[in-house]
Amino acid sequence: ATPTAVMVGTGVGAAHGILIKGGDALERAAGVTHVAFDKTGTLTAGRPRAVDVAVFAPGVAASDAALLAAALEQESEHPLAGAVLALAAGLLAAEKGGGGAGAEDRDGAKPIALACPAPPAAAAAAGAGLPHQRMQGLAGRVPVVHDFRAFPGEGVSGRVPLYRDAGGAQADAAGSTRPWTTARGGGNALRLTSQHRSWFAAPDRLRSAAGASGASELEVAVGSARFLEQRGVEVAGDGAADAYVRAAQARGCTVILVAAGAALLAAVAVADPVRPEAHGVVAALRAAGVGCTLLTGDNWRTARAVASQLGLDHIVAEVLPAGKVAALRALQAAPGAVVAMVGDGVNDAPALAAADVGVAVGSGADVAVEAADLVLVRSDLEDVLGALGLARATLRRIR
Ligand code: ADP
Ligand code: MG
Repeated sequence: ATPTAVMVGTGVGAAHGILIKGGDALERAAGVTHVAFDKTGTLTAGRPRAVDVAVFAPGVAASDAALLAAALEQESEHPLAGAVLALAAGLLAAEKGGGGAGAEDRDGAKPIALACPAPPAAAAAAGAGLPHQRMQGLAGRVPVVHDFRAFPGEGVSGRVPLYRDAGGAQADAAGSTRPWTTARGGGNALRLTSQHRSWFAAPDRLRSAAGASGASELEVAVGSARFLEQRGVEVAGDGAADAYVRAAQARGCTVILVAAGAALLAAVAVADPVRPEAHGVVAALRAAGVGCTLLTGDNWRTARAVASQLGLDHIVAEVLPAGKVAALRALQAAPGAVVAMVGDGVNDAPALAAADVGVAVGSGADVAVEAADLVLVRSDLEDVLGALGLARATLRRIR
């Protein structure tokens, strides 16, 4: 169906920041009976901020754990990455100012919870967008990472070289200094040279915490508890860590864990407030008889806390990208169901493609925008209502 009405409909949509990829998408959108929403970056603002950090490894400084995590996250396009980088910048700034954020001389048996010092204002502002490497207070201080890998819905991993802390020059395993570049190719690779000082306050304690004495680099993993446990890191079995994680999640925080080797170093509690318009959008859809589901890779406890703020009672949590597709297929299996998926992330792309109507939040990842049928350019969730209403009005004109 490509009559004038479709052209008018897509034209009106475009004028309002709603890109509709063709007449078929418009027709399917007119019949939507159920909407599944991604959480992070879709129902939430996607500007997560670290609100607390706890260290679980004896003698390890919070700033060292944050820098190790930042080394990986500078390569990630996940919204959580910005929160970790801003945390590292904030901890470094606090140390410089004598804020005493390091945990080196404390009793390592107890978790050390610190209220997160605010990052420098410019860093906080930049926290939501790439390139993170240019974040004020971090430039040239975040270590490089080798063999960076992103596991959508789980976390990130890589090997972070530990430089000698003597003399201010970095030395490789052979003891010679040489310039280092980031693992990322391309023209804007951050170039680190021997003029940069050592980043780690306590590299030897990091090595011993990781059980890697003498090592010139650490295997680092950053992500969910499940991700780390799959990699041999004990989280649920560590009483202090488990209690910390549960408490933060019950408050609606996402907990990011940092491990070196098999050792759990630290946990970062990240808050990402729901978008101000999200509650009204869910209420309007439900009032119109459209079912709503929260579909997230985050853990069940955090998902429940967020869903209760939004009046959402159907939740699917702790799913990988393929699990999001399976959950959509289950919704589509209901008789007469026409299911829309609203998402922003790399992890949402398969579900956006599988949905009857994939709706990408415009500020999201490129692959999400590509996989979607509809793009909300203004990243305003109310445009979900606008898009579905526009589709219905347009279809009425065709018939
Ligand atoms: P959502 O579905 O809510 O957008 P994701 O599927 O993107 O969430 O991520 C699920 C979980 O995986 C996150 O809550 C986090 O624990 C972990 N995770 C994914 N990517 C990262 C990353 N780059 N850094 C830290 N944790 C990550
Ligand atoms: Mg998301």
